[in-house]
Amino acid sequence: MEKIGLLADDFQETAAHDDEQGRFPAEKIQALRDAGYTALTVPASHGGAGMSVYDMVLLQERLAQGDAAVALGIGWHLSVMGELGEGNSWNQDVFTFITDEVKKGAVLNRAATEAQTGSPTRGGRPGTAAVKQDGKWVLNGRKTFTTLSLTLDYMLVTAWIEEKQTTGVFLIHKDQAGVSIEETWDMIAMKATGSHDLLLQHVTVSDDRLVEFLNGPRGSKVNGWLLHIPAAYLGIAQAARDYAVRFASEYSPNSLNGPIKEVPAVRQRVGEMELELLKARQVLFTAAQMYDDPQRRQYVKSELGAAKYIVTNAALSIVDKAMRITGAKSLERNNPLQRYYRDARAGLHNPPMDDAVIGKLAAEAFDS
Ligand SMILES: Cc1cc2nc3c(=O)[nH]c(=O)nc-3n(C[C@H](O)[C@H](O)[C@H](O)COP(=O)(O)OP(=O)(O)OC[C@H]3O[C@@H](n4cnc5c(N)ncnc54)[C@H](O)[C@@H]3O)c2cc1C
Repeated sequence: MEKIGLLADDFQETAAHDDEQGRFPAEKIQALRDAGYTALTVPASHGGAGMSVYDMVLLQERLAQGDAAVALGIGWHLSVMGELGEGNSWNQDVFTFITDEVKKGAVLNRAATEAQTGSPTRGGRPGTAAVKQDGKWVLNGRKTFTTLSLTLDYMLVTAWIEEKQTTGVFLIHKDQAGVSIEETWDMIAMKATGSHDLLLQHVTVSDDRLVEFLNGPRGSKVNGWLLHIPAAYLGIAQAARDYAVRFASEYSPNSLNGPIKEVPAVRQRVGEMELELLKARQVLFTAAQMYDDPQRRQYVKSELGAAKYIVTNAALSIVDKAMRITGAKSLERNNPLQRYYRDARAGLHNPPMDDAVIGKLAAEAFDS
């Protein structure tokens, strides 16, 4: 925890600059590799630390307090490895190969989103196609939102396989012929995640690189590792709260005899922020604990999605309150609150989406 705290504080120094420039901070991901952070979710069965979801959430929240874009990006890598470590349908030699690669510092992520499917959690069929030619798979297509694209070593790419009438997942290395990144990421939120387009032009892979088949939309599985997402947004909320509390303790306009922290309306907002943070944190860590506990995991239903919903919406509300406390200064370009405000919005468009969470809760109510 201490180590990640130091890295988070260090990353914070340049987070505003990276955001302003829309610059992908590859050196920060390298620092995480060097610190052994990227290998933490390799399962113990494969010589890794086998970190729990709870610990991942704890570390990711701290990292996001310093640099939310880096936390969200590396969170995808940690969660993909953690999820696979719990069991997978991969060829076991290929899985051992990838865990060895991650132990050596390789970073991976899923490239599942496409312009025509939107969120893969909706179950759309990928436009990216995989066709068998001369005993090998040949892939063609374009993926959008490929977070960490400029530093990924491996991508898990979804592709439609016409001959099998199903979607497969292929393990692709960044240096394979036909793999390229088009730098399309031009968003106002999470600007430093480098979530560019991944292009696949006649990318040829052997049969053992077809590692998974998707039965049903992504996101239909109970996957506690996705709690890395709310962890990042909780980090933003905590950073916004810390800023506002510091500001209210120090800002002393000459119309008052002391700092604005004595103003009842400011104290009211600070108290409300504390309450929202407390609720969000409780729900998130309880969901993580429930998932980590083998006895309780079988009972997990909507808790994971609900935690994501509650935390991301709390983050939006907490950042809003922090900005109201700070006043117009919160809109200055060099004020971190305006970055938190933009970054927190991205949480709404990470899975599971709010309507899906609410729909699932309603379905469970009617099924019970
Ligand atoms: C910062 C960031 C990082 C990301 N990183 C990655 C990554 O590393 N890899 C990756 O694969 N993806 C990534 N994504 C993509 C993400 O998972 C979503 O696929 C993406 O944000 C698009 O979601 P959407 O809801 O806007 O899109 P859409 O699914 O197109 O939805 C747009 C609108 O249409 C509605 N809609 C569309 N289809 C349906 C439906 N069937 N039923 C009901 N409503 C529907 C939605 O509710 C929404 O209002 C990232 C996204 C962000 C913001």
